[in-house]
Amino acid sequence: MANMRFKAIETAYNRSTISVPAPSEKVADYYGSYTFNDDVMKTLLTPEAYLKVSNAIKSGSRIDREIADEVAAAMKAWATSKGATHYTHWFQPLTGGTAEKHDAFFDVTPSGKAIEKFKGSALVQQEPDASSFPSGGLRATFEARGYTGWDPSSPAFLMDNGAGGKTLCIPSVFISYTGEALDYKTPILRALHVLDKAATAVMYYFDRNVEKVTATLGAEQEYFLVDKALFYARPDLVMAGRTVFGHSPAKGQQLEDHYFGSIPPRVNAFMVDFEYEAWKLGIPVRTRHNEVAPGQFECAPTFEELNLAIDHNALLMDLMNKVAERHNYKVLFHEKPFAGINGSGKHNNWSMMTDTGVNLLAPSTKPKETLRFLTFLMNVVKAVHDHADLLRASIASAGNEYRLGANEAPPAIVSIFLGDELIRLLETLENRGEVQLEKGDNVFYKLGITRTPPLMRDNTDRNRTSPFAFTGNKFEYRAVGGSANSASPMIILNTIVANQLQEFRKELEARLELGEKKELAIVDILKDYYRESKRILFQGNGYSDDWVQEAANRGLTNIASTPLALGKYIEPSAVQVLEKMGVLNEREVHARYEIELENYIKKVQIESRVIGDLALNHVVSTAVKYQHQLAQTAKSLMELELVEEAQPLKELIKEISQRVYIIKQAVEAMTEARKKANNTDDIPTRAELYGSEVKDYFEKIRYEVDKLELLIDDEDWPLVKYREMLFVK
Ligand code: ADP
Ligand code: MG
Repeated sequence: MANMRFKAIETAYNRSTISVPAPSEKVADYYGSYTFNDDVMKTLLTPEAYLKVSNAIKSGSRIDREIADEVAAAMKAWATSKGATHYTHWFQPLTGGTAEKHDAFFDVTPSGKAIEKFKGSALVQQEPDASSFPSGGLRATFEARGYTGWDPSSPAFLMDNGAGGKTLCIPSVFISYTGEALDYKTPILRALHVLDKAATAVMYYFDRNVEKVTATLGAEQEYFLVDKALFYARPDLVMAGRTVFGHSPAKGQQLEDHYFGSIPPRVNAFMVDFEYEAWKLGIPVRTRHNEVAPGQFECAPTFEELNLAIDHNALLMDLMNKVAERHNYKVLFHEKPFAGINGSGKHNNWSMMTDTGVNLLAPSTKPKETLRFLTFLMNVVKAVHDHADLLRASIASAGNEYRLGANEAPPAIVSIFLGDELIRLLETLENRGEVQLEKGDNVFYKLGITRTPPLMRDNTDRNRTSPFAFTGNKFEYRAVGGSANSASPMIILNTIVANQLQEFRKELEARLELGEKKELAIVDILKDYYRESKRILFQGNGYSDDWVQEAANRGLTNIASTPLALGKYIEPSAVQVLEKMGVLNEREVHARYEIELENYIKKVQIESRVIGDLALNHVVSTAVKYQHQLAQTAKSLMELELVEEAQPLKELIKEISQRVYIIKQAVEAMTEARKKANNTDDIPTRAELYGSEVKDYFEKIRYEVDKLELLIDDEDWPLVKYREMLFVK
């Protein structure tokens, strides 16, 4: 075993950097060349078809059969001209990741002749026979009939399969025959639709030219890279995506010398390579840098319309995995692959944008626009305040449980950072009291709204400890896990904001009917919102213990456990808002809850098994062998009458024995705890048992194993060490 470790290290050390030629000198030459985008449609479709498809994209209207046939023909012609042989509906099931089932563009006739085939019906709908995707009881498995449906608002694209030609991928929703969502995209599209309606209705009071509001998202992606050989020498990474054992290296991230440091050449080649591939697919990845932890990196795209940004992030993760193979790396998206150093998040930068090009969360120097800004800002604050637990549920997972509240990651407490300047402005508004208008008064002046205070960029940026931070012209939800599908938190965020904007509009209308002046009425409502949501605003250090105490005093929830956080999905207030907004009905919410619990159970179960296996079959067996060697040596010393010299060895033998004993006991007890959990039929209870009774042993076992790592001869230690995984690149 130790042999395998050293072989892997040698292999990793001797890797050379693979050169990556640019597809062309100018990015513009190939940017989006693998997508069936607007330009392509314009050239390949009749004007009538083009118009219908554009309308469908803009308004979400249906595309009729004839047009679908024409689009399918154009898509096929375009795809085959670029080397595609197959097509697939590409969707995002609740397992995480993306799913594809490739069908060839041809069919075989009964007489054995191959004929080309890809009709509008195949474009619009496909039956993947996906009976083993999780459905949380929505679709009885024997029935096995969910179907996928084309989402024209996200362009079809070509996936390069390496040597095997290309596949035309058609972004799709995945729904059951009864119309219930089995994926992430369906509720995202519903949530974006209601957000559009609600925000546009509110915009009526500020600018009647606005006909549509879209949500925008820029998802910063953190990840670790580990050499492929080292990865395969760590069964825990292979099976669970994280290391269950490993003593911290002498040098970790304390020097912070990796952050924004120069990117190692081999890593750089990997980044350049996946960026080229991303650009061909029209994914606007723009920044790359080292992250805080050694071996950790980040990439970020320019923000886009939210549905597209989610597809692009999912596709990017897939792409990174594929490209990493060429460079002999494995990408870890896991939220906490290594104990004791930073984990990986996916910061979701979110805002709302009108069809007239206005970012609704951008501050302004004009009073009227400032009022608009404050309106949208405070509606978001109120929504997050009222549904903080639901937002917490939306980022709950087995992986994120290790990250939230651990080193350099936001805590499980949902709080909002606005920055001192905005707080001061809101305080001023609140304390102003009743405003009386006389004839000729300037209402904004009277209200104290002149301009948004200039937000010092580094002031809004500096607070990196807030899970939900206003960063100048957008909110940044930082608690999202690195491996998550951003759709999960974005479904919730957009729904609760849409709901809140509806409430706001209702209240405003009621006041206007009573004859109140619009600006005064708006400010009055916002003042109420501020008062009601104040307790969630926190400008201090979110990583501090003081905050945990303070948050408790404020009555904010701090839900560390994933099963309990997920339980917030099915609270009446959560179900009610999701159902009322038409995003998820009660059955769908319950199904999701169940699926997430099952995902959690499976992940913890796998980890527990890996821990048991590695502890007994790798660590304990090595320890016992080493002990035997020590015993031989001690015996020889004794025979030579070097009694005192044998003493340290005896102590070492004893310590190893004790640790081995504890490990063995704990692994047995953990197995019993697993049995007990497995015999529990009730899924929420089983998840809780996994999260408490089974997981309780993880740290205990790890502690002893990590101590043994320090005692046992490095030559014999079977598992690749942290310093090797993190620093060999
Ligand atoms: P920082 O690096 O300070 O966090 P950046 O301006 O570089 O901020 O943005 C980080 C991410 O936020 C990028 O993906 C960027 O595209 C995205 N972003 C910027 N403006 C918006 C917006 N209006 N809506 C959504 N995302 C945005
Ligand atoms: Mg950021």
